Amino acid sequence: MTFTETTKAIAPASSVTSKSMANGQMNSDDPRPNIQQPCPICAETRGLAEHLIEVGLAADYLGNTSSYVSEHGTATIKTETIGDWLRLAAQLEKVEVDTWKFESPDAGLYCETVGDNIDAHAKHYTTHATGLTRFMFVCNGLEEAYRFIDHLYGPLSVRKGVAKRQLKRASSLRTVALLDDLFDSKGVSAAPKDFQHHCGNFIELFARYKAEHNAAVHGLDLGAESRLTYALQLVRNLRNHVAHGTFPLGPPADYGGYEDSEELVLMLKHACRVSALYIQIILRWFAQGFESYDYNSIRDAYAKEFDRFIANCTLEYVQDLHVKSEFALHKDLYDYERDEDDDD
Ligand SMILES: [Zn+2]
Repeated sequence: MTFTETTKAIAPASSVTSKSMANGQMNSDDPRPNIQQPCPICAETRGLAEHLIEVGLAADYLGNTSSYVSEHGTATIKTETIGDWLRLAAQLEKVEVDTWKFESPDAGLYCETVGDNIDAHAKHYTTHATGLTRFMFVCNGLEEAYRFIDHLYGPLSVRKGVAKRQLKRASSLRTVALLDDLFDSKGVSAAPKDFQHHCGNFIELFARYKAEHNAAVHGLDLGAESRLTYALQLVRNLRNHVAHGTFPLGPPADYGGYEDSEELVLMLKHACRVSALYIQIILRWFAQGFESYDYNSIRDAYAKEFDRFIANCTLEYVQDLHVKSEFALHKDLYDYERDEDDDD
């Protein structure tokens, strides 16, 4: 690799805009701008599926409930429901799109190009369907997390003296207010480790998506961009784009689609990552502690693997559970015991 190539490879993705690509300033041998270079922080972070299952299991082990009052009445919100959605997102492998389904099976026999075309569309739409589905599962967990703490917005608005017409109605925006207040009092230490790095990655991808596709962003108060809740505001907007069908869904780039279609899928993954981090903050600072039947059974049992679990399964762990560590809620309780025995 020549020096020039090396410099290009480590240049931040933002240095190559899609405009310069359109102008033909990049040749096909250049590193693709959407390829994430390994960075020491991300190398210490659990993969997305492992991260999602850890948050899901934390929500399960917490086993908290709260009352959510809306115009439809009062509902009981369970952290287990957050766990259910995140487990589904973590276990999701592939949402398969079969572009051959309505094609004649002979289509590819007569013409290889036609076959390649259909195959390329299948691969492309399968990737998109998987990314979109995973993101919506994570968003469903996030929505439940909003409702879990919604009852705290009333007391906050009274304490802050918020005028009646300024009150936030949506639980997503009430959550932003609650988290802003949390960060105002505790600072960045209330956020998970390397929070701003992960949010920054997503914010950068979102900014390119917004510019490229004229994506609308609503509901940001003055100064929202400089707050630690900014990435959550963008996730909220992205969720609306996906739910309302305005998220760009074109054919593969080689067949007339968007040049950045792979990067859009990458952005969805980063959106899942930061959503999980915000759920960690909500659980860490607003849950009452571990109350589930499973947690209590482990606490009341006598064995050293159970003691180890209870010592590690804490609210502090919830805050930083995205960081690679030997302890993990999704690992078999007895694995550690076996590991220790191996050492003897
Ligand atoms: Zn990184």
